[in-house]
Amino acid sequence: MADFSYSIDLDGIATIDWNVPKSQLNVLTLSGLETLESIIDEVLENSKIKGVIITSMKKDFSGGMDLKMLSKFESSKENSPSSQIYDLVMRLHRMLRKLELAGMDPKTKKGGKPVVWACPGISAGIGTEIGLACHHRLVADTERAKIGLPEIMVGLFPGGGGTTRLVRMLGLMASAALLFEGKLMKPNSAKSAGLVDELVNPDKLLVRAKTWILEATEIDRIKPWDSKNYKMPGGFPYHPTGFMTFAGASAMIKSKSKGVYPAPQKLLSAIYEGSLTSFDNALKIEARWFTNILMQPSTSNMIRSLFVNKAALEKGLKRPENVPSQKVVKLAVIGAGMMGSGIAQSAATAGIKVILLDKDKIALKNGLSKIESILDEAVKKKRINQDKKSYILNNVLASTDYSELTECDMVIEAVFEDPKIKEIVIASASKYIGKDTVFASNTSTLPISKLAKHSKDPSQFLGIHFFSPVHKMKLVEVIKGDKTEQKAIAKALDFIKQIHKTPIVVNDSRNFYANRCIIPYLNEGMCMVGEGIAPIIIENAAQQLGMPVGPLQLIDETSIDLGVSIANATKKALGKDYQDIGVEKVLFKMFEIGRLGRKVKAGFYEYSESGKRVRLWSGLKAEWQDDENQTSFEEVKNRLALVQCLEAVRALENNVLLDIREGDVGAILGWGCMPWAGGPFGWLDLKGSETIIKICDKLEITYGKRYQAPNFLKELNKKNQGFYEVFNY
Ligand code: NAD
Repeated sequence: MADFSYSIDLDGIATIDWNVPKSQLNVLTLSGLETLESIIDEVLENSKIKGVIITSMKKDFSGGMDLKMLSKFESSKENSPSSQIYDLVMRLHRMLRKLELAGMDPKTKKGGKPVVWACPGISAGIGTEIGLACHHRLVADTERAKIGLPEIMVGLFPGGGGTTRLVRMLGLMASAALLFEGKLMKPNSAKSAGLVDELVNPDKLLVRAKTWILEATEIDRIKPWDSKNYKMPGGFPYHPTGFMTFAGASAMIKSKSKGVYPAPQKLLSAIYEGSLTSFDNALKIEARWFTNILMQPSTSNMIRSLFVNKAALEKGLKRPENVPSQKVVKLAVIGAGMMGSGIAQSAATAGIKVILLDKDKIALKNGLSKIESILDEAVKKKRINQDKKSYILNNVLASTDYSELTECDMVIEAVFEDPKIKEIVIASASKYIGKDTVFASNTSTLPISKLAKHSKDPSQFLGIHFFSPVHKMKLVEVIKGDKTEQKAIAKALDFIKQIHKTPIVVNDSRNFYANRCIIPYLNEGMCMVGEGIAPIIIENAAQQLGMPVGPLQLIDETSIDLGVSIANATKKALGKDYQDIGVEKVLFKMFEIGRLGRKVKAGFYEYSESGKRVRLWSGLKAEWQDDENQTSFEEVKNRLALVQCLEAVRALENNVLLDIREGDVGAILGWGCMPWAGGPFGWLDLKGSETIIKICDKLEITYGKRYQAPNFLKELNKKNQGFYEVFNY
């Protein structure tokens, strides 16, 4: 069976059905493109065919292009990968342009067949670009449907004519959210934005498509840019209004992307240059910039981590084989605080029955109202309706009684981060749970194997470490204790899949993987403040590395007192091996003067009455800043990047992190570590081990052992290979 097929009805209407065999979602591959090309040729040449419908008999139209295939071009050893990409993109353009003109005489504008897009559900990327090449766009008005061009999210932009068509259709301003933010729109919003023409009852989608074809007039078959006197909405770049939009857009993109994400800048170039010429030339320009962006090594890294490996982890890349699927039906969450209520809400949303347990009724009431406020926000944003909210709330039963745990097939504890309290809670709950119940701790720091000793069965005990806020953060770190069995790991991964999050599996060790790498980043920021480096330099350097927030802002968000308790716990655990790199004088001073962070509206930043972050606290300059001896901006950047990345390598060397793909996906989703580079290992590969070792050697002389290049890097350098090469991923 081919990916595309078509049939002709008695009215002479051809329906092209995109239905990739044995796949839930249609993705455009090279062979799919070949089939579609020949079908388009056939239906346009067949004089008996009056019009064409493009649809899918699946629930959704398309998930986009085969990104795996695209990402391989850049590292391809074959001759001239860039001309291969360009040729492929131009082939796509020729096919869609042919469909768009549909046999019309370009001079007289006569002839041609009406082509309508009938989208049954989700359509992303090339799917939507096919729709944009049609004369009329119908979308099934369903909860499920979402339409958009999300390429920018993986470091690309629409290169199948979507950029050129959308801007000519809506103008730069109106297409910005779709192109530059990659927004997927619900049918209503897509209609208001002008992306689609009609919303249709899903059962009537094909009927309406046929009627439209039968009623279509000549004018309906001519795209605005193919008609005389076409003017771009909002104005071309040299039109007074267009000029203002284009000039402002460039500055806005620079400020948002901090110069590290090349795709938005190149997308704007494709739009700007394309809008100064004919439609067909604009397609060539789009293809050239698309080739350029795809040839950037950072783009392949982004696609690899944010799309290919993320999806593979979600599909069970690390799930132990030969263990039957074990869905969680009834979950107990002990501790209804910030994390517990978030975990309960995520599970209840996925249809799991949840017992939310806490030590008293007040804590439970607070937990339930936290869940309700998350749901209210989702209702406000129209992500769910009132019925769904009630359904989710009905899935949660609050209790203070441990005997409720008897029928739960999984328990997650999220009580205070105090080993004594956790041990008591684990032991008490263990009395009630069944023999196959998996018990998980959401601890951020405590060794799992030690906690497991207090459980009913250490082979069924592990860590399931969520990130805050749970309803927004996609990453979940699964931590294997020394006795954890494969079956328990498989169940944890099945549960994470049920709640639509992304798992990584790591070994037990102090701070596991994510916190192990985040803490040095925070510490380095404070250490730099103590050295006299201007705080604004530290924060800007972090942003120019592509970190979502600077270390000082992140400390304010997580709170100084948490930093103090982590420092004290680390000191206690490491004993004489503990070394203060210069963090304490800043951390403890901030604690002493009560600047605990955002929660008290005073920290490294100043906050307004309403809690809005206003500026860096002026007291930092007075207390520490040394204006005479400022470290270079490049060195500050290197230090902030290296402390995270070297720690990731050490986690790999120490067998805590088991796979660099998890290391990169986990770092991006867990703490936003340089997504543009594909995560820490991606960044190290972009720089090259030789360069990194040179920087490390220099920094080690000034700042000590934390910059010592790990042996793994030295080995890579000897082999002249990168991480992804050596592991052959
Ligand atoms: P929290 O203080 O908001 O909530 C803890 C809850 O545990 C409270 O509702 C408390 O009443 C309850 N509790 C305490 N003792 C109990 C007992 N004996 N029996 C039943 N309930 C009891 O804390 P949190 O921020 O939700 O953190 C919970 C756990 O999650 C900790 O282990 C923490 O390290 C971990 N964690 C926190 C974050 C974060 O950012 N806050 C992130 C990841 C993991």
